[in-house]
Formats: sequence, C-alpha cells, structure tokens
Amino acid sequence: MTTLIIATRNAHKVQEIQAVLGSDFRYMSLKDFPEAPKVVEDQPTMQKNAVKKARELAKWLQYLSGFDLRVPGASAYVLADDSGLEVDALNGAPGVHSARFAALDHAGSAPDENSSDADNNAKLLRLLADFPTERRAARFRCVLSLMQVKPPQPTLAGHLFEGTCEGHIAFDPRGGAGFGYDPLFIPVGGTESFAELGEEKKNAISHRSKALAKMRDAIITLIQGGKRF
Ligand code: IMP
Repeated sequence: MTTLIIATRNAHKVQEIQAVLGSDFRYMSLKDFPEAPKVVEDQPTMQKNAVKKARELAKWLQYLSGFDLRVPGASAYVLADDSGLEVDALNGAPGVHSARFAALDHAGSAPDENSSDADNNAKLLRLLADFPTERRAARFRCVLSLMQVKPPQPTLAGHLFEGTCEGHIAFDPRGGAGFGYDPLFIPVGGTESFAELGEEKKNAISHRSKALAKMRDAIITLIQGGKRF
C-alpha cells in the first residue's frame, strides 16, 4: 500500500485529504515528524510553493531514512498541498499569499508567519466592502505536488495536480466548520458558505477533492500499474 506523507501542519488539510482519499492509502503528516524543517513559502506561484514543500521534505526524509525507523520504506510519497483563494475584483488576490494576507504590506511583501483566519477574513471583507454580489466572484485553487521519498524525484510524468471551485464572497462570515476563508466562500449554485455546508458537502465539490481525484487516478495508473489496490 502507498504511504502518503502529507507535508503540512494544518490539521484541517490533513483531515480533508484523508476523508476524500479514504482507506486506499496509509497516511503520515508533519505531526509524525514534528522536528521537520519549516519550509519558507516564498515562491511566486502556488505550483512552485507546492513543489518546494514536497521536494524539501522528501530530501529531509531521505536523509532521515538512513537511521530513523519512522520513515516508511518503498512506495512512500510526500504530498504537498498549496492552496488559496483568488478574488477577481482584487486581480486574483489573496492568491499565493492567502495564508499571510492580513500581514501583507503595500509593496506586496509577506512575512514568514501566517496571519490568523479572523484577520485574513476581516481584511477581505474590508477590501470588498463596496462591491455588490455580482462583483464578488472568486475561486479556491488547490495545487498538489507528489514526490517520491527514495530517491526524492518526481516519478509521475505530471506530478502536479490542480483543482478549482468557483463561487463568490459573502458579506459576513457564516458557519462554524472548516478553516481559513470557508465562512466567506459560497460555492456557485448555492447559498451556504463552505463553513455552513460542513466537511462532507464541502469535500464533494471542493478544489482539494478535485485535485485529489486527479492525483488518485495518476497513482493508480502509473505507480500501481492500473491496479486498484
Ligand atoms: P498554504 O497552502 O498553507 O500556503 O495556505 C493556504 C491558505 O489558503 C490557508 O491558510 C487558508 O487561508 C486558505 N485556504 C486554502 N484552502 C482552503 C480551504 O479549503 N478553505 C478555506 N481556506 C483555504
């Protein structure tokens, strides 16, 4: 069975990835490797940040595998998720800076530390205060990078997988589920935010689940020779 080592400390992302992919994989995450070096997400695109996160963790795990039994053997892959919210009226912002949006300065420089979800949501609402519903179009984008641990080279031809979910930004935060911008994002065709819909309904349509479905297909075809576990 393929082990996926999810390159994040975000428990919500881990939970969503496991819920979508189910028992087809064995899972580990940075919770199992708390001392893993922190990767600075300083790349200009989500694609490049996802690759950087996957590559740096895969390299570190390969080094560790020489003496640390926590690192699984054959068929272990690092899975990195870089994702964010793109608002059309803000020319695609917060985009690659979604996690640090509130702390972003006017020159577009972002600190290493993430801002709180509440601060990010408040800034987004402030910037969109004068925009009517029809000018609040937005999408979530999820970019996944898959990288083999030993050796840390991408083995899948296109080892990047993307998914998007279209919608618009609400006027107030609504709902208690999920994380990040979920209370503000209303997927197209609905009236409830991701945070109101809850995990199961979000996972049925989300950017992350679409990217994960593409990745699962690639794994079945390329790693497992077409065999479904
Ligand atoms: P990163 O991928 O860890 O760099 O950060 C992604 C940021 O985008 C998160 O901190 C959230 O603010 C936001 N984000 C990404 N995916 C989601 C989602 O599914 N729901 C809500 N916010 C998200």
